[in-house]
Amino acid sequence: MHEVKKPRKPLIYYYVIVLMVLVLFNFLFMPWVAERQIKEVGYEKFMQMTEEEDIGRVEIDQEENQITFTDKDETAIYKTGMVDDPDLTERLYDAGAEFSGQIIEQTSPWVVFLLNWILPILIFVGIGQYMSKKMMDRAGGKNSMMFGMGKSNAKVYVKSSKGIRFSDVAGEDEAKENLAEIVDYLHDPKKYEDIGASMPKGILLVGPPGTGKTMLAKAVAGEANVPFFSMSGSEFVEMFVGMGASKVRDLFKQAKEKAPCIVFIDEIDAIGKKRDGNVGGNDEREQTLNQLLTEMDGFEDNNGVIILAATNRPESLDPALTRPGRFDRRVPVELPDLKGREAILKVHAKKIKVADNVDYNKIARMASGASGAELANIVNEAALRAVRENRAYVTQADLEESIEVVIAGYQKKNAIMTDKEKLIVSYHEVGHALVAAKQTNSAPVQKITIVPRTSGTLGYTMQVDEGNHYLMSKEELENKIATYTGGRAAEEIVFGSVTTGASNDIEQATKLARAMITRYGMSKDFDMVAMEVQTNQYLGGDSSLTCSSETQKLIDEKVVELVRRQHEKAAQILLENREKLDELSQYLYQRETITGDEFMKILNS
Ligand code: ADP
Repeated sequence: MHEVKKPRKPLIYYYVIVLMVLVLFNFLFMPWVAERQIKEVGYEKFMQMTEEEDIGRVEIDQEENQITFTDKDETAIYKTGMVDDPDLTERLYDAGAEFSGQIIEQTSPWVVFLLNWILPILIFVGIGQYMSKKMMDRAGGKNSMMFGMGKSNAKVYVKSSKGIRFSDVAGEDEAKENLAEIVDYLHDPKKYEDIGASMPKGILLVGPPGTGKTMLAKAVAGEANVPFFSMSGSEFVEMFVGMGASKVRDLFKQAKEKAPCIVFIDEIDAIGKKRDGNVGGNDEREQTLNQLLTEMDGFEDNNGVIILAATNRPESLDPALTRPGRFDRRVPVELPDLKGREAILKVHAKKIKVADNVDYNKIARMASGASGAELANIVNEAALRAVRENRAYVTQADLEESIEVVIAGYQKKNAIMTDKEKLIVSYHEVGHALVAAKQTNSAPVQKITIVPRTSGTLGYTMQVDEGNHYLMSKEELENKIATYTGGRAAEEIVFGSVTTGASNDIEQATKLARAMITRYGMSKDFDMVAMEVQTNQYLGGDSSLTCSSETQKLIDEKVVELVRRQHEKAAQILLENREKLDELSQYLYQRETITGDEFMKILNS
């Protein structure tokens, strides 16, 4: 359900309207007003107009000694003093003037005043009002609070029987267990009150994007059958200072009226970032945060409002927000493990028609590291592929292909590689696979392909973990680096030159080697000292150095040394298996894609 908004008009649009109104006013009204004014002229002008027979109506006022007259078309009114002129009447008659008994009407001074002064003011006030209303609307609140600002526009999902349930969220058993308590409390708060226990007011769901945090929050509301208020952190932060705070107030007011209920704030880091006290900091954000803190404190315990918030950057949150009494419970929602991935695939596969013989476990193993959202995407891509190929249901091949689509993009249909390039890519990929397979601890290869993809990869080796890995030993990490360098090593051995194809491998190998030295304490020189801290654990993991510049230099040297050693090791492995390298590369060159089984068969033959 999307709200369709009218496109906003640029400010220039309003300026043009004001300008047009002014121009119209001047052209239409002012001449008319001017005409209705009596102009005082000399007697000679009167005579001249009489001679030119440009006289319309004439009125002679003996008492006031004054003549009022109009021109022929009666578009202007003039007056002049009387002069002793006996022939006047005759001349006027000759000129075709019309003697009028009634006084030539002129616009009342009130009308003139109104048109000259009041009307423009009214027009300006009107335009001003209209524009300020526009700006308020733009600034946010649609309903009126104070000038229509500061009303929260939280989406409310009131009780619905078709809401999301825990059963829709696959995997994430720990998180569900944790949240089940909240559901139980919302069902029967009395049980908790009787014993004197108070529920946490706020629960923070933390984890990488797409792992189902929003879904879990909705599922809590669905299970407890209570209203669900949902708002994103960024929606609080507005152009005007103080509006976010007023939105927070309003949201909590609404929630208290609807208690028991759930308030969900997505991406809470948008308002909950650490207040750093910098001059010129973001006042609006800080005020919003302060208001949130105050509202949470103002809650009496067990009032039935539970606040769930989600973030990918828990470390950036203000400590005041995470202290006990506010968001004191933290529920990690991690990337799914093998079992979780399989369950998520099955949940989403229920929505589409799938062949009976699909091996979900294999798909889950191939999609190692994928988030729930990515898995949902994989299933959908597979369904789209089945439709494209006019099949009535999704097959194993669809799912396998769609994993590659999600990882590496679509196959490039018209990419033309020269034979030489194709051969180099074959050797490069087999180099990776061979080094991986020959090191006892490396995961076996699932598939190798040299079909170019839209993401720009010319080929890749898909490694598959058989089970779950929670810990990695130093040897395993070193082997991984060796595997990354295997592609380049094969190029060097076979062609005696190097290509740009290894840039991603280089990046990955360096990252890993650096982490081993600076964070995992795997270098003798630094013992167990952290030289780097990770800042964005859930968002790609940036890290910042925490050591002196001399140490940085040493770290760089160690990283190079570590990678070089593994590079040499990989080259050694390939040299020892040169025949297999050639055989496998030729096979891949001809087939373009080989499976793990074929690979192992050739390797062991
Ligand atoms: P987050 O809030 O963590 O970024 P969402 O809850 O918005 O992620 O999840 C996005 C989509 O990914 C969901 O709509 C759902 O289709 C899918 N998804 C994510 N995690 C799961 C899961 N554990 N089980 C089933 N589907 C999931």
